[in-house]
This record gives sequence, C-alpha cells and structure tokens, in this order.
Amino acid sequence: MRLSRYFLPVLKEDPSEAQIVSHKLMLRAGMIRQQSAGIYVWLPLGLKVLRNIERIVREEQNRAGAIEVLMPTIQSADLWRESGRYDAYGPEMLRFRDRHDREILYGPTNEEMITSVFRDSARSYRDLPKTFYHIQWKFRDEVRPRFGVMRGREFLMKDAYSFDLDAESAKRSYDAMFVAYLRTFARLGMVAVPVRAPTGPIGGNLSHEFHILADTGESELFYDADVEDITLTELADAAPGSEIVDRLQSIYAMESEEHAKVENCPISGEQLRRRRGIEVGHIFYFGAKYTAAMNCTVQGPDGTPVHPEMGSYGIGVSRLVGGIIEASHDENGIIWPYEVAPYKVGLINLRVDDAKCQAAADDLYQKLTNAGIEVLYDDRDERGGAKFATMDLIGIPTQVIIGPKGLSSGVVEVKARGNGSREEMPIDTLVDNLSTWLKLQRKG
Ligand code: ATP
Ligand code: MG
Repeated sequence: MRLSRYFLPVLKEDPSEAQIVSHKLMLRAGMIRQQSAGIYVWLPLGLKVLRNIERIVREEQNRAGAIEVLMPTIQSADLWRESGRYDAYGPEMLRFRDRHDREILYGPTNEEMITSVFRDSARSYRDLPKTFYHIQWKFRDEVRPRFGVMRGREFLMKDAYSFDLDAESAKRSYDAMFVAYLRTFARLGMVAVPVRAPTGPIGGNLSHEFHILADTGESELFYDADVEDITLTELADAAPGSEIVDRLQSIYAMESEEHAKVENCPISGEQLRRRRGIEVGHIFYFGAKYTAAMNCTVQGPDGTPVHPEMGSYGIGVSRLVGGIIEASHDENGIIWPYEVAPYKVGLINLRVDDAKCQAAADDLYQKLTNAGIEVLYDDRDERGGAKFATMDLIGIPTQVIIGPKGLSSGVVEVKARGNGSREEMPIDTLVDNLSTWLKLQRKG
C-alpha cells in the first residue's frame, strides 16, 4: 500500500477524550473514530489489525474442532423468554420493536439462539459432541463505556457453544477450548493468565477468565507465579485432557474478589504475583441450564431423552486490539506483535526528490509485494522525521529506510520497531534477507 493513496488520519497530539494509552494510540494512529458513546468506526489500519486477530482466533477455533456458523445480531424477545433471561438480563440489553410491534433485541450473547438451532436439528447422542462458534458483533448498553474499544457498547466477540452427552465429555470440550485460548493468546504475542472466575448470570460451576497483564487492567489478579511459566512454555502445545491442563486449572489464580473470600491463600512471598489484568476471554461450563429450560433433548444411548450439557466460550476480539496495545507500546507508539501487525514492513523513502532513491524505493516496493510481504510504502513528500514518527506510531514491526547515502554504496537500513536495532543490508539481496529476518521476527 502506498501511503499517498491510503487513508491514515494520524494525530500529532494526544486526544483529550482518551484516558488510557491504547485509546490514545488507536485514535492517534488513525485506527478508529468514535461515532457515539462506545460505538466506533474501524478505519483501514484498525480494521486490518482486527481482521488479523479474527483470523488467528478462527484458525485456533477450527484447530480445536469447533465449527463456524454465523448467527444474526438481532434476536427475538420470545427466544429469550424461553430461558427466562429476557427479564433477568437487565438494562445492558438493547430492546426494541419492529414495525409489527414485535419485541426484538440486539444480541449481547447467543446461548438461547444456538440452543434453539441445535434443538431443532439434533436427534440422538450420535449428534454429540459438537462445538459451534461465530465471530459477530454484540451490543451491551454498558453503564460506563470507556477506554475506547476495551469497553465499548458495540463490540466484536468470538463466542462458542459446546454440546455434550455427559459431564465428562463436557469437561473435554471445556479443556479443548481452554487450550485453544492459550494457543490463541500466545500466537497473538500475549501472556494471558487463566484465572478461576465466579460464574455470574450465565450460571454453572466451572469458569475461567483469561487476562492480559497490564497496569491499566480493570481487574486485580492474584496468582501463583508458576502460571506464567506454564502458559508460555508447555501449554501452548498441550493436548486437551492432558495432565498439564488439569495442573494449570488447579494452580492458584483468581480475581481479588474471590481471593478476599478465601484470604488462607496457599501461596505467599515471591511466589504470589499480584498484577492487574485485562479480561480478553471467558469460558463457562454450565451443564443443562439452557437445554433443560428450553426443552432441548437428544435420544441417549439407552433410548431415554437427555438434555445435552453445555459450555460457552467468549473472546473479546475488538477488546484485544486495545489490550495488545496496553501490553505492547513505548513512548513513540504501538509495537505490534508480528502476527497482528497491519503491515509487516514499512518502506520509507527519505528523498522523494531524488530520482535514484525514488526508483530504488519503487522497485523494492514491487519486489517485496511480489514476494507476498505486506508493505506500507511511505512515498509521501514529507520530511524523514515525520515518516519515522508515523511508522513508529503505527507500530510496523520492520522498517526499511532508503536514503541517497546508503544507496550510493548499495545498502539500505533495516530497523526493528520492537528493540530499535538497526542494520544495513545490501539492496540486491534484500528481498531474500528480509524474508528470513521476518521469519525470525515472527518467532519473536
Ligand atoms: P466484563 O467483565 O469485562 O464486562 P463479561 O464477563 O461481561 O466481561 P463475557 O460476557 O464473558 O464478558 O464476554 C466475553 C468477552 O467479551 C469478554 O471476556 C471480553 O473480552 C469481551 N467483552 C465483554 N464486554 C465487552 C465490552 N463492553 N466491550 C468490549 N469487549 C467486551
Ligand atoms: Mg460485562
């Protein structure tokens, strides 16, 4: 993409409407614009990041055996009356009426809808187990929308729903998602600590939240330091049902509320970590709560009807954009982990008025693009300083800088956004070298 043809409305100053760094940087980097409280337009750069996160989430859901569907945003009130949640849900739910005066709502979650879909088509235990997911916009009329996309009213969620014959099988589905979540967050370049969570209005008895560690997080976490190590190393490739999953689920990790309730905390000293976190995922096992209320049955192996056991599994896809920035930035701007970066290479031509520089930059842009590398090419007639500042602000992981001095000796400068390291590389072999370099960046 040539920057001269792109739409990247960057801001030089911190916008006054933003309190936390991710919100400031998303506005400054031209990623989002607010339309009304908690409702945002995703501008081209922000949308690319959102789509990258969505792709990784989707790949890991598929890998875990979940099946993608797409349910609508609008749901009928009658469906929610079946479970009893229409009245119970409270003012976060946006309720309205259509022209026929039928009561409808903008879905804050989809347990009822997926249960009705499954109920209408599943007949026997042979239709189990099944896990469905979709990636769809949700609306919750949050009392205090804030922190940009982190607590929006309209937001993008991946939500999955599992159906199993019995509790044992349901735990396997739960574990498969537990592992998928750790894999997902690791691929996004994040440490996400799984903490045991109270189940709240969704009900049930087993639940974990996943938190990105960041000082600006809304939650206070208490956990055994072992959690960080396992999350990063062994678990990323663990199979569901393996011992390590049980071990991680039983290691001490919880939100302060729960901690206060127990206080005989088994961990102490250095081993007890106390950090703030941003909740980016939440998984629940709640058994037959919805299938029983909504009369969803399948024929069991002995011929008697069974209410399938369910779990539900959310990831805040749009919240993750802000969460990742909270965890990965410096005073100059965003530092995108490789996989989510909107462009992998930023190409800077320092002298658009120099014919040789111009030709070399155009040529390199073409070759890198042909090699399948996503390049943002700053071909604007701007000062070098402004170009560097923009690339740093928007967080492109690798920057290639072309100037007359280097070019005269056949080299360009390659800069890593993460650690600021710079090296000169011969322009002739740059495309090959850069492909190798990017592979290294990708591994972190
Ligand atoms: P929170 O406690 O932050 O309100 P929640 O428990 O209500 O979250 P869930 O119903 O479990 O959230 O939704 C699944 C995921 O969706 C959450 O883990 C979070 O990442 C994301 N999410 C929830 N509410 C919002 C919101 N208002 N804006 C952006 N993302 C959200
Ligand atoms: Mg909430």
